[in-house]
Amino acid sequence: MKLTVLGATGSIGVSTLDVVARHPDRFQVVALTGHSRVEVLAEQCRRFRPVYAVVGSAADAQRLVGMLTGLGTEVLHGAEALSQVASLPEVDAVMAAIVGAAGLEPTLAAARAGKRVLLANKEALVMAGAVFMAEVRRAGALLLPIDSEHNAVFQSMPHDYAGDMPRSGVRRVLLTASGGPFRTASLDMLTTVTPEQAVAHPKWSMGRKISVDSATMMNKGLEVIEAHWLFNAPADKIEVVIHPQSVIHSLVDYEDGSVLAQLGNPDMRTPIAHALAWPGRIDSGVASLDLFAVAQLNFERPDPVRFPCLDLAYRALRAEGNAAAVLNAANEVAVAAFLDRRLPFLRIADVIAAALDAVPHAALPDLAAVLEADRCGREAAMRALARYTT
Ligand code: NAD
Ligand code: MG
Repeated sequence: MKLTVLGATGSIGVSTLDVVARHPDRFQVVALTGHSRVEVLAEQCRRFRPVYAVVGSAADAQRLVGMLTGLGTEVLHGAEALSQVASLPEVDAVMAAIVGAAGLEPTLAAARAGKRVLLANKEALVMAGAVFMAEVRRAGALLLPIDSEHNAVFQSMPHDYAGDMPRSGVRRVLLTASGGPFRTASLDMLTTVTPEQAVAHPKWSMGRKISVDSATMMNKGLEVIEAHWLFNAPADKIEVVIHPQSVIHSLVDYEDGSVLAQLGNPDMRTPIAHALAWPGRIDSGVASLDLFAVAQLNFERPDPVRFPCLDLAYRALRAEGNAAAVLNAANEVAVAAFLDRRLPFLRIADVIAAALDAVPHAALPDLAAVLEADRCGREAAMRALARYTT
């Protein structure tokens, strides 16, 4: 199988290449992309010898060329090059692991080209779910979820599930959440949270943006919207369950009272290997789950007072139109400001709520309208930031 890895230098990208390296006879890397960490990308190029490598700027491209002399890898740069390597005719599968809205267009390009799309970039689906799913269907792309919860739901659904929950006897989708680093923190403690504390996730090692999303529980909110599009599940049939051990990755509740789940150690190489090999199974490097060491599985309801972002995401999903694109854009702006120490942790939700209030979002589901909602969401969030920044 020939692969493009978008966002190769990030947490998911590195885990993907770890799985790929275990099966050199099975996978061949055609293109790798990275935005900033050029040294890491150079090292990956030396190891996997892709035909193309893509970076953000002309200056970084020049640096990378200097680091890769004699290798034969062609170095490209810019947003268009990302879409180009995501849709090359010789590529079978695209790992979509760029973080945030920047991943939308290349991920969409992979879908339009009918690829096997391994979707980690949940923001693409949150922003443009209707457009994205329509392109997947039109082009006959195979969309496989990498997000551990959605990968678990996919594994727990009927193998021929075609988006009709009642017909498949599915009552509910239950998304598990670890609760993040502040699961037990008081509202008072949350007022003084620092970026360092927020990115120190108890169970998963991830990029900075998604780590903050986990701390606010917006990550789970984005995942509710993601589940809506992936499984054609209405908002009231998607429930969030806090499960601090992060061993059950999600569950599907059936009409007959059966509940099917997927379990495993919290390591993204499992869903990555699953999606790379589907419908087969390959070694991912993840150890067997030791149930005796786990000993206990606990469950709690999410707290809407300390973690208002989850309800904001449900609100955006129920509002339809492009409200989810506004939500996502405002979240990206607010998280960046928090990481920059310009916005207190608890104000992240306020900025997003202000953007949802400010931007009308009864737009038609086409890409131009999505990008416009993204732009307006960012502007509204910036205006709200000015009120709250420290
Ligand atoms: P990360 O920050 O570690 O890596 C992000 C990657 O995107 C890097 O390769 C970076 O170079 C690239 N990138 C960043 N900005 C870019 C831009 N403007 N243009 C092009 N490339 C750009 O993030 P991550 O934790 O690997 O997450 C990647 C995606 O996967 C996110 O959408 C996240 O929500 C999702 N995800 C991650 C995990 C996880 O365990 N890390 C789990 C589930 C879903
Ligand atoms: Mg997840």
